[in-house]
This record gives sequence, C-alpha cells and structure tokens, in this order.
Amino acid sequence: MPTLQNKVAIVTGSSSGIGQSIAIRLAAEGANIVVDYRSHPEGANDTKAKVEAVGGKAILVQADVSKLSDTQNLVDQTYKQLGRCDILVNNAGIEKGADFWDVTEQDYDAVLGVNLKGAFFLTQAFVRRLRDAKLPGRVINISSVHEDMAFPHFSTYCASKGAMRMLTRNLAVELGPLGITINNIAPGAIMTPINTALLGDKPKLDALLKNIPLNRLGKPEDVAGLAAFLAADDAAYITGSTYVVDGGLMVNYHEQ
Ligand code: NAD
Repeated sequence: MPTLQNKVAIVTGSSSGIGQSIAIRLAAEGANIVVDYRSHPEGANDTKAKVEAVGGKAILVQADVSKLSDTQNLVDQTYKQLGRCDILVNNAGIEKGADFWDVTEQDYDAVLGVNLKGAFFLTQAFVRRLRDAKLPGRVINISSVHEDMAFPHFSTYCASKGAMRMLTRNLAVELGPLGITINNIAPGAIMTPINTALLGDKPKLDALLKNIPLNRLGKPEDVAGLAAFLAADDAAYITGSTYVVDGGLMVNYHEQ
C-alpha cells in the first residue's frame, strides 16, 4: 500500500521547483495535494496535471503565505474541500541579494515575510486544527544549507533560514506532546528557478561545482524523496532535526 494513502498535504509554493516535485512525489505515495501558489496559476495547473498523472488528486488554492489572512484561508479551504490536513510542507521561499549595508526595509520584509513569517503562521493555523481535533501531523520545512552556512550578500535569506532552524527545534518540543513532528530539509544547490542567475553564469557555476563532492547540482527530486520519507510512518520518531541534501557541499573543505 502507498505510504501516504488517504493523507492530505499542503505544499506551499508548489507551482514550480522543489515544491512542485514534492507535490508530485507525495501524490505518488497516495496523498491528496493542496497546491498553493502566489501568482502563477499556470505553474499550479501544471503541478495539478502532474499530480493527476501519477494517480493523485490535487486542488489549487491561491495564497500569499506572507499574509496572515491568506494562510488561514489556505488551511480553511483545505478542510472545506478535502476534509482534513495531515502534512504541511513549508516550501515557499524567496531570496534577494545585496551587500548588508544596502539592504532595504522592503527587501528585509519581503524575505522574512515569506520565508519565516509565512512558515510561522501557516504552521500555527495547521497546528490549531490538529490540536482541536486531537490528531497527529507532520510539518516539513524546506530550509537551506544557509540555516547554518554563511552566504555573504544574502543576509536576509540567512537570517530567515537560521530562524527557521531554531523555530523547528523549539516547535519540536512544543508540538511533540500533540503528536506533531517537525523537521527541516536543508537543500544545497538545486536546479530550480530560484537559481536562474547562477545557472546562466558559467564561471560561478564551475566554481560552485568544485565545492560539491558529488560534482553536480541537485535535482528537485533529490529533495522530494526525503520529504516523502519524513511524511511517512517510517519517520514517526523523528522530530526537531535538519536533513541536509547537498551532495556533500557543507562538509567539504579543501586545504589550498
Ligand atoms: P522556486 O523559485 O522555484 O520556488 C519558490 C516557490 O515559492 C515559487 O513557486 C514561488 O511562487 C513561491 N512563493 C514565493 N513567494 C511566495 C508567497 N509569498 N506565497 C506563496 N508562494 C510563494 O525555487 P525553489 O528552489 O524550488 O525554492 C523552494 C524552497 O527551497 C525555498 O524555500 C528555497 O529557499 C529553498 N531552497 C532552494 C535551494 C535551491 O538551490 N534551489 C537551496 C536551498 C533552499
């Protein structure tokens, strides 16, 4: 039997990249999927078609996760249309590069608003329903190697992912008694739209590949397999952890 039969999963930002891949993989394991998108219904429809191609069911909900009312509506729509919600994947994320001394309030609010505030309050809305119904659940955050590893000129991104790391550890303690687990996946460099500039910059890309022992960028599917594991019964006793999916990037160090 598929490992996620009869489960319902919200995957934020699943109109592209890692989120789309996770949506398809969870569906292949039997879950019904809520495809959240902010502004690309065509991408969300593409995800829906791919979910259906593996035999799953998907609904589309437009929600900007940085807006509290949208996160509440996302959970409400899930219950209204699918009757339950067992798994939340906080995947939506953005990055904005700038030297620290040039970061604007607008960019700070944008990055922290999606990557941290969005995950925070959507998890809150997800947990409240489970707590009231006395049901267990799974939260899977798509963090980054930059929850730990410095990324100069991306201080807002690092602040958001570092905070997500600590939030996960804190919530593991608070949510454990409710039977809700929470874990982070920390991808390294994965081939998705967020890396469009990097993929077009050969010298930068070559330099990065030298730091990756497996000598390639990751594919969204490399991340999706781990999300499926963390959502399934095999991961029932795992909470408060971060799993790195980076081809060995973080542990690599060369003496020059
Ligand atoms: P992506 O740009 O394809 O995906 C990000 C998704 O988030 C998009 O679908 C976008 O529409 C959505 N999104 C952005 N703002 C939103 C909002 N306000 N509300 C709802 N959705 C919103 O890139 P990706 O690489 O698939 O990124 C997915 C996650 O993986 C992000 O959290 C990112 O930080 C993380 N990550 C990616 C990499 C990588 O190398 N690709 C590495 C580490 C971590």
